[in-house]
Amino acid sequence: MMPRVRITLRGPFIVISMQIITIGSGSDAGTPRIGCKCAGCRSRKPKDNRLRAALALKKKDEHFIIDIGPDFRQQVMRYGIDYNNIEASVMTHAHNDHCIGLWERSALTMKQVRALTVYSHPQILDYYFNQNSSFYYLKSSGFVVPKEREPNKKIKTKNFSFHTFEVPHTPSFLGPTLGLSFENKKFVYIVEASKITEAMKEEINGTHTLFMNGTFLKENLFSHISIKNSIPILNNLDVKKIYFIGLNHTEGTQEQVEKYLKPYGYKLAYDGMKIKV
Ligand SMILES: [Zn+2]
Ligand SMILES: [Zn+2]
Repeated sequence: MMPRVRITLRGPFIVISMQIITIGSGSDAGTPRIGCKCAGCRSRKPKDNRLRAALALKKKDEHFIIDIGPDFRQQVMRYGIDYNNIEASVMTHAHNDHCIGLWERSALTMKQVRALTVYSHPQILDYYFNQNSSFYYLKSSGFVVPKEREPNKKIKTKNFSFHTFEVPHTPSFLGPTLGLSFENKKFVYIVEASKITEAMKEEINGTHTLFMNGTFLKENLFSHISIKNSIPILNNLDVKKIYFIGLNHTEGTQEQVEKYLKPYGYKLAYDGMKIKV
């Protein structure tokens, strides 16, 4: 009998970095808002012009989209994202500003492009794909492929690996809100949350880059923890880089908020911001 030989391959392996493109950094109705004359809306500086919060992660030529809001079409065009190179996407929660752009995958375009895989919580998928006839049509025609995320279990697509965790934000009838953690805490995304729970602290601790809800600067409002109230909690956690995202038009300009964040070493995301992790 031949002796069994175990061959272990060890050696240099290539780690492919991931590019994070902020394709939207605003809150539910963007900035400037229709008819509003506040300082944020009056600003003509490019960084104060915010589409609804969403990200495009890029690895090789493939994209992974986080949230598909009403600006999805414009975001795809502006940042040169090829529909056929969208490997997968996630809807973080059932508020319209994170999901309603799915209709851009409608029948007229879908004959030429590949189906969109959308991961989310079963309750969110049910709300959109079974209770709304337009989205039911997208699902039943195979233009969009909804996939239930398995709680706290690693999901692997061709180029990306991630898991989801639940964060408090939406009323229970809409289902929970999902936080996302990519590639062993390389990147954690919490777009909206009313507080930072103990379980969330565990997810955040040890992260390289965190994107955190930054809708309101000082006051907790409408199920959003403010930047001011997040800071002392985040200061006690081990995170290399922190960016706030989702600034509401009422909360000032990019320049003003960046000035507020500077002493802490944190930053505010803006449309078009590209970073590598
Ligand atoms: Zn305004
Ligand atoms: Zn929301």
